[in-house]
This record gives sequence, C-alpha cells and structure tokens, in this order.
Amino acid sequence: MRDPILFPFYNDLSSLPGVGPKARPHLAKLIGGETWLDLLFHLPASWIDRRNRASIDTVEIGEIATVTGYVDKVDHARAKLPARVRLRDDTGFITLTYFHANRQWLEKTFEIGKTIIASGKVGDYQGGRQIVHPDHIADPEKDDDLPEVEPVYPMTASLTPKQIRKFVAAALEGIPDLDEWIDPHLMKRNAWPGFKQALLRLHQPKVYDLEGFEVARNRLAYDEALAREMAMGQARLARERRHARPIPRAVGQEKQIVDALPFKPTRAQMNAYQDVVTDMNRPIPMRRMIQGDVGSGKTLVAALAAAQVAADGGITALMSPTEVLARQQAEAIGRFLAPVGLRVAALTGRDKGAAREAILSDVRAGKIQVLSGTQALYQSDVDLPELSLVVIDEQHRFGVADRLKLTSKGVSPHTLVMSATPIPRTMALAVHGDLDISVIGEKPANRQDVVTAAVPDSRIDEVVQAVSRAVDRGERAFWICPAVDSEDAGDASANQRRDVLAGYINAPVALVHGRMPPQDRDSALEKLRSGEARVLVATTVIEVGVDVPEATIMVIEHAEKFGLAQLHQLRGRVGRGDKASSCLLLYQTPLTENGKERLDILRKTTDGFEIAEADFRLRGPGDVLGLRQSGLADFRVLDMVRDTNLVETARTDAKSILMADPTLAGPRGVAVRRARDLFAPRIAEMVAEEP
Ligand code: ADP
Ligand code: MG
Repeated sequence: MRDPILFPFYNDLSSLPGVGPKARPHLAKLIGGETWLDLLFHLPASWIDRRNRASIDTVEIGEIATVTGYVDKVDHARAKLPARVRLRDDTGFITLTYFHANRQWLEKTFEIGKTIIASGKVGDYQGGRQIVHPDHIADPEKDDDLPEVEPVYPMTASLTPKQIRKFVAAALEGIPDLDEWIDPHLMKRNAWPGFKQALLRLHQPKVYDLEGFEVARNRLAYDEALAREMAMGQARLARERRHARPIPRAVGQEKQIVDALPFKPTRAQMNAYQDVVTDMNRPIPMRRMIQGDVGSGKTLVAALAAAQVAADGGITALMSPTEVLARQQAEAIGRFLAPVGLRVAALTGRDKGAAREAILSDVRAGKIQVLSGTQALYQSDVDLPELSLVVIDEQHRFGVADRLKLTSKGVSPHTLVMSATPIPRTMALAVHGDLDISVIGEKPANRQDVVTAAVPDSRIDEVVQAVSRAVDRGERAFWICPAVDSEDAGDASANQRRDVLAGYINAPVALVHGRMPPQDRDSALEKLRSGEARVLVATTVIEVGVDVPEATIMVIEHAEKFGLAQLHQLRGRVGRGDKASSCLLLYQTPLTENGKERLDILRKTTDGFEIAEADFRLRGPGDVLGLRQSGLADFRVLDMVRDTNLVETARTDAKSILMADPTLAGPRGVAVRRARDLFAPRIAEMVAEEP
C-alpha cells in the first residue's frame, strides 16, 4: 500500500492547470509517463543564464542575450515578409523578427517609444543582428516575468518551454516536502540539498550555478540508487525467510561425471559450481547468476547442478531463448550426464500432442530428470511438482517475468541464471542486485584467441577465397548477413549470398534465418554440425549459444551496423575447437569515426568485459544487449557510467538500514520506503512476486 503522503506524485498530468485533453498526450509522450512524478523527473538538459544584461552594441551573433531598449520602428508583415521590430538603446539597435505574428498583439506589445526587455538567441540579419521569435519579451516595470536562469528541457514541437515551466511549477507547488531519508553524514559530506530542494534547484534555479546543478542531480541519482538497493535488499531478506529443500552434494556421482568428460573443467568452472553447491545446500532458495563470456563453458556448471538435484530426486528445468538452443542444450547436458544414467529431454513449442504428453509423463514418473526447453516450459499444462532447480540460459533474452513464471511451477526452487553479457560489476549489481554472482573469468585452455580483421567490402573476393581454402582444409565457416532479402541488404542479403557462395565453394552451403520454420532452421544447423554442409550463411538468429567446434571462420557483412556486444557474441561462435580461427568484419566504406573505433576495439581485444565497457561508453548501458527489455535498467536519473560510486555507497547504506530496521518501521525506515516507492516501484513489485 502506498503512503498517502506520496499521492500527489501519482496525480495524473491532467490535474495540472493548462493540461487539457489536447496538451496531455503531447506532454505524456515528451516525458514518457503520465504522472506528476514523471514530469518532475523530466529534468532540464541545460540552463540559460539571462542575468547578463548587455548594451546592444556588445551583443554578438550566436549568443543568448537579454537586452533592454525602446521600440524605434515596427514593420508589419507583408507579402511573405515577417514582421520586424527595431529595438534601440544608446549604443545601437537590434531587430526582433516575427513570422505569422498576430498584428493586434504586435501593436499592443511594441508601441513606438515603449521600453522593453527582449531575450533570445542572436542571429545574423543582412549584416546586422536579429532575434527571431525572442524567448521572452518583458516589461521592465514587471521584470520578474523573466526567469533569470531558465531551465532548458528536452522538448517537443507541440509544447512551448513556457508551458512546460508552468506545468512543472504547478507540480512543484503541489508536492509535499518529505522527511529526509539519506544519512545526515552523507548529506553533509556531499553538500546535498533535500529531495524537494534538489528538484527546485534544477527546475527553478535562483542562480546559475553549474556545480550546484550537478550536486542536485547527484542527490537524485543517489536517491534512485538507494531506492533500488532497498527494494532488492528487501527481496533478498524475504527470500532468506523462505524455505527451500537443501540439496546435498552427491560427491561420487559428481566425480563419475567429471572423470568421463573429454576435457578437464577449468578452475573457474569448478569455482562457480562450488558456489552453486554451497547455495543449494542451504534451506533457502538459491538465486545465482553465472556470468561467463561466450565459450567459457557455463553449460557444464548447469549440468553438474542438475545432477545434484537429480540425485536428490528432483527435476531441473532449463529455459533457453530458442528451440535450436533448447535442443542443443538437451544434447550437451545429455552427453555430460549419460555416464551416470540421467536422462535429459527437450520440450519446445514444436512438441505437441502425444509426443509432448509422453515427455511430461516420463518426467512425472521420474524417468527424465532434466527438461531443456523454451517458454513452452511454463505453459499451463506443464506440471512440475518436483521442480527443484530452474536454470535460465542466455538470461538477457528473458524478462524477470519469464523467470518468475517458470519458478512458480515449483515450490521455492533454486534458480541459476546464466549470462554471457559481460557487464561491469556495478552495473550487474545494480541491475540484478537480487542475484548473487559467480564469474567464470577464464576460458578452457585449448582455446586459441580468434584473430580479427576489419576488411572493406571492396575486398570481399579475398574473403571468399579464404573461406574456400578453409573448407578445402576440412574446416567450417559461418557467414553472417544483415538481412534475409535483397530489398533490405542488396548483395549482402542471406538469400543472395548463399547462392553466390555456393558457386565458389567446393562443398554444400546451408542457409538459416529467422523466417524459416524452426524445423528447417534446426536442420540447417545440424548440417553444419554434422559436416554435411561446410558453410552456413545466416542472419543473427545464430547469435547466441550455437556450438560447432569445427567452425574456424566467422565472416560478418556490414559489421559496422551491429552492436559491439553482438559482434562479440557472433565471434564467439568460432574458436571453440583447437584450430586457429578468424573473424572477418566486412564493412561498407566510408566508416564513421565511431564505426572505426568500434571495429578497432574488436580487433584489439577478445575480452568480453573490456568490450562491454567500451560498448557502454559508445552506446550507453540500456542499449547493450537488450538490458532495457528486462525492465530493470530503466533509470530515471542514475547514469551507470558516471554514478558507479553512488551505487556502491547506496548498497552499503541500504544494507545497514535493513540491518538496523528490517521491517522499515522506524522513522528513517518510513522515509526510505517513500524513496523506494518513488524511484523503484517496478523493482519492488517484481521482486515481491517472486515465489
Ligand atoms: P557457453 O559458456 O558459451 O555457454 P558452452 O557451455 O556452450 O559455453 O561451452 C562451449 C564449448 O566448450 C562446448 O563444446 C563445451 O563442451 C566445451 N567445454 C566446456 N568446458 C570445457 C573445458 N573445461 N575444456 C574444454 N572444453 C570445454
Ligand atoms: Mg551457452
């Protein structure tokens, strides 16, 4: 239940004076929300200082000037010419220009001889200076019409800055001053204003003080960080109060599985697995994320965890974003677990009728211990009473809601999410703060770094020859195209490229793209895997997870159009065996500076974390690998690149608040709960639903 003192923040925009049925949709669209709160967090992007009153002769083209003068002459609009008002002082004159202005208004405002103040951006007019549509015209007698420091908002054409200022002023007027929720020492150390004071300083500044604006923004960013940490901290506490079935380690079985592997697990894999064992051994539900770059071997960790669960009589459900991956995971885990007689089945949207029923009844009968599937796993007819472990693979492709739907099939099952999104630690904690994180920061030893080259598309013939030679040596290749049809990508379309390559390569070339039926997609991939085809032309459907160790060349056409993290994922499809591999990034010329920088980063490093950091810098965190779609990375003020220190401090602070007052019943608890509800309502809701 919401604290009634917060009600004004949730008022609809339409309750603001001047926001009628016409303005409301424009305003809502501009601020991306419908409440006063959303409006108040539509912060100015900059401020204009209008205190600088200049004599007219010192005003320069390009600057924002505020001048006082008397009206010397008015030329009314005629024959498509705008109206022009000449404003004079002792030092010179400047022209005010109005297109389509109302004549009556002009005559009233600009009586000859009247003294006025005009403010706006100065432009050039026939060698002289003009202000086109001044932002303000004021009467010096009533000078206070004109804000001395004016906030500049990200704007829409349908509303004027003056309107926005008016709406914001009304909302500021109507909100209460809230009790402070930030620790007094922290307030003092940072010289932070109170919550409402910070909003006032940004929206209605009295002085032009860039540093002061930054301090106020920081305070609000901290509020948001604290709110999120509180919501996630509470979720964690709630979880720790729930009971889960502790799963003991089955040491003998584990040894049997590991001994049968065709390779030796890395230390990092075993450490991550050890974290999982420790978590599952406790009587509270595990929520752990395994973060490991592509090819780091996350599947094995999931398989070992599933084996522990099976030894205890439980079921594991593993959810992947695509059918191809679900089947591939079923196969891989099936291979890992076969030596101890455990059975793994795939369950996707394709399994229907009797076949589907047979799988489910085998699960119920305990004949199948691991189900690997897609979203089909959480459909209503799937009944998984013994579900003890939920694994979410390629976590960035799922929302929190998917995770919750699957976990609700069991009674407080343990949850393991696996992510190849190598996001920096602070970001990971801020986004997935309710999860514990294990990092697999090491790749299997047999891996060779993939050599990456950026090649202009004028040299595509050489690339085709390189692929052809590799195929002659018995190797395999991926060729990624930006689109399926030539309408979208010309020669670089998957359809066309397959036909062309088929003419050059001495082996079958397969094709896979998102518009093919799932069966055909599977069979195309299967052809590459089995070696029946040696080259697979594909769109980015193969971006995640596909595992073909014999593939040694990855060609990506129009590489400049892809995100860095996505290119890194694609590149991760090769270099999985023990042969030297390469990734060829074909780009269209000319490359932009940004495009060049991005391809350079890929050439220089294969470290997923480094690439993610760069991607953050160049594109912003929300865009990186669809984090935005998780609903957890929509920040109001917080900036994940700038504010990492604030997030760390907020985490410590949230912990100590919850330690001192777990139910948030004391005065600070009540105050901080308000911050949580204002800044992180969605997280609070989502984590509250967790079974
Ligand atoms: P990802 O972390 O990208 O999901 P996978 O689990 O698919 O990686 O592993 C990639 C490939 O590496 C698979 O073929 C897997 O069998 C193999 N693999 C996993 N662990 C090791 C290891 N320690 N040494 C060698 N190969 C390994
Ligand atoms: Mg994987």
